[in-house]
Amino acid sequence: MVVSERGAVASSKQKAPERFELAGQILRCPFCAHDRFWRRKALLNTAGAEFMNLAWANRSAFCFVCDSCGHIQWFLPPKRRAR
Ligand SMILES: [Zn+2]
Repeated sequence: MVVSERGAVASSKQKAPERFELAGQILRCPFCAHDRFWRRKALLNTAGAEFMNLAWANRSAFCFVCDSCGHIQWFLPPKRRAR
C-alpha cells in the first residue's frame, strides 16, 4: 500500500509504547504477538486508497506500530467504516 509519509502525525503525548484495546480485544501484533504499540494518525494516499477500493475512506486512519518488530496495523475511524 502506498502511504503518504507527510500524512503521518505523532499522537498527542505518547512517550512510550502502550497497550491498546479495540473492540473489546487487547491489540496484539499478528507477527510477533507483542502488545505494546505506538499509535499514529496517518493519511492514506489517494492512489493507494483507490487501488484498495477504499477511495471513500480517503484521508485519515489510525495505525499502530508494533514496538517489537515494527509491523503496522491500520484501522479506520468508526465514522469512515459505515459504508
Ligand atoms: Zn510485532
